[in-house]
Amino acid sequence: MLDKMLSSVTECFLCCITRPCRNKIVIENCSNVVVQYEAYIYQGASVSKIDGGVGAVGVDANLTMEIIRAEGLKPSTGRIPPKGKAIETCDYGGRISLRYKFEHVDWDYSPEIRNFGVLDKVQISPLSKEEIERRMELLRQMQAAEELKIKTERDAAELKKNTERKCSSGYQHTCSARDTPKIKCNLCGDWYCNNHIEAKTKWSVFGGVGGHVCPKM
Ligand SMILES: [Zn+2]
Ligand SMILES: [Zn+2]
Repeated sequence: MLDKMLSSVTECFLCCITRPCRNKIVIENCSNVVVQYEAYIYQGASVSKIDGGVGAVGVDANLTMEIIRAEGLKPSTGRIPPKGKAIETCDYGGRISLRYKFEHVDWDYSPEIRNFGVLDKVQISPLSKEEIERRMELLRQMQAAEELKIKTERDAAELKKNTERKCSSGYQHTCSARDTPKIKCNLCGDWYCNNHIEAKTKWSVFGGVGGHVCPKM
């Protein structure tokens, strides 16, 4: 448990500026990688709710993000070049929660959380070479998994569509089982079941079983 809390501090991806009098934060990217960030600016009744999430021990960043989303807050987003700075402001009494990721290094914003004290400057520390490699490997794996998921979904949708197609044959009573995907005839472009997919001439269709009279034969 202690280890997790310590790593939360060092990972530092969702931070909260807790001092109420501040109305401006400077986000400084000390790394050599472009940083993308989301700043959630909130005030009024949202402050105590979100502070409760950010501040309480054992309340994780995912829960804090849920509170932030439940409050209907739209993030102010931005990109900070290497060694660059960004400024976010909020009205008096407001707060700013910030989360960020390294472009082309992190797959997503980390669910880690950190509370800032009275800082008005957030410094995003550079990652070690090993850490960048570790995260980029994870990024590659996530991208590959995502591509596979998209392809699988597309294939499944295609299979469903082709199964639902009607066989173009006029002899539906001799069709193969309805739940088999239909196949497109390369010659005429019509769709047929397994029994009727074979392209035949008007003459040859009489001699054998199945197939379709293909106008292109
Ligand atoms: Zn058929
Ligand atoms: Zn055909």
